[in-house]
Amino acid sequence: MGAGVRWKAVLDLAATFGLMGLCGSTSDVGVVGYTLGGGLPIMGRKYGFASDHVIAFELVTADGTQRRVTKNEDPELFFLLRGGKGNLGIVTAMEFHLLPSQDIFAGGIYFDGGHAAAVLQQFSEWVPTLPSEASASLAFLRLPDMDIIPEPLRGKFVVHLRFAYQGDPEAATQLLEPMRRSAPFMMEATGPLEPTQFDSIHQDPDQPVPVREHGLLLERLDDSVKVAILRHFGPGVESPVLLAELRLLGGALAKCADGEDSVNGRDAAFSFFMAGMAVPPLAELLPVVYDAVHQDLREASSGGTFVNLHGHFVDAEDRERAWNPSIRERLRKAKVRLDPQNMFSFGHVVGLPVIDQTVLLEDVVTAGGDAVLGN
Ligand SMILES: Cc1cc2nc3c(=O)[nH]c(=O)nc-3n(C[C@H](O)[C@H](O)[C@H](O)COP(=O)(O)OP(=O)(O)OC[C@H]3O[C@@H](n4cnc5c(N)ncnc54)[C@H](O)[C@@H]3O)c2cc1C
Repeated sequence: MGAGVRWKAVLDLAATFGLMGLCGSTSDVGVVGYTLGGGLPIMGRKYGFASDHVIAFELVTADGTQRRVTKNEDPELFFLLRGGKGNLGIVTAMEFHLLPSQDIFAGGIYFDGGHAAAVLQQFSEWVPTLPSEASASLAFLRLPDMDIIPEPLRGKFVVHLRFAYQGDPEAATQLLEPMRRSAPFMMEATGPLEPTQFDSIHQDPDQPVPVREHGLLLERLDDSVKVAILRHFGPGVESPVLLAELRLLGGALAKCADGEDSVNGRDAAFSFFMAGMAVPPLAELLPVVYDAVHQDLREASSGGTFVNLHGHFVDAEDRERAWNPSIRERLRKAKVRLDPQNMFSFGHVVGLPVIDQTVLLEDVVTAGGDAVLGN
């Protein structure tokens, strides 16, 4: 697959072979950008991160060299590209495994936001009982009063349970039962689903929207987390945050099935992600809310993030959250070796100033390059 291809094209083509790719909540993002950040898929608890299934990258580095990067041909670069984002070059093509797409049962249930506490409580008791064939997330949504939103949900505060399961549909229905009983619901749309319809599960916007985001990883969903979520996003709260989402991790996401990689937070239990419209006056309020939520969730969080759901890097300290120290160090070393002039400095990239520059300069001298540090 070449650079620039979006998931939709891959899902459509793969479907003609009875296969699917490990797409996330929307098929409207680029496969390469998504996969370089690990790629947290709808079916992640069963199959792991999208980057676990990459066979080869074709990479053009800053000096114009085109390299084929595989587990055997360049193990260090292969390690860093699987989760290290766009630090090290331009990926011009990627080879990856597709997976069987049969027997997917998926969809969502919308609850009135007034039942948020009961639904969240049931969700916290329910998720530990799920097998790894099942993925789930819970979103607190403050939906705008716009025509694109279906009438019963328009302008409402709702809690949206998202669910996907691969296996016997009867078993899937049984698995969902405790959540159905958690509170009266407004709308349910669950059933057998083709991977080409994955977008209907989360119902992310199908057009680009200006958003400001913030994510963190949680180690648990205990009472302190539930209290914090309800304090910031529960009924009666005025919040500029359009979406606050708890996504269940674990299962096959916990360990890379094919060697090592640089995806952060494999041992986390949940991803917690918030997004709001980056338009005045909301844009100014969002960082304040994000800081407050972050503080309140600090006890249950390693502070780290999954880079694809990090939000843009705010400052040097925030940047440190995207990769653990040893991966960061390896990324920086590779960056100085392959991109000494920091050509790839856009987006989610490691900073270079706090490293032991003598060590890195030795590497650069060995590699015969000039270093520009301190960006
Ligand atoms: C609505 C929505 C839902 C999402 N849901 C999920 C989800 O479920 N799971 C998940 O993991 N992520 C999710 N994401 C995050 C998404 O994976 C990232 O935003 C990803 O970076 C999108 O890649 P892109 O190529 O479309 O974006 P771009 O803005 O084109 O690229 C983003 C970055 O990716 C890198 N990149 C892209 N192409 C290349 C290339 N050819 N070579 C080198 N580097 C490259 C660069 O660092 C670039 O800055 C979601 C995003 C949106 C907007």
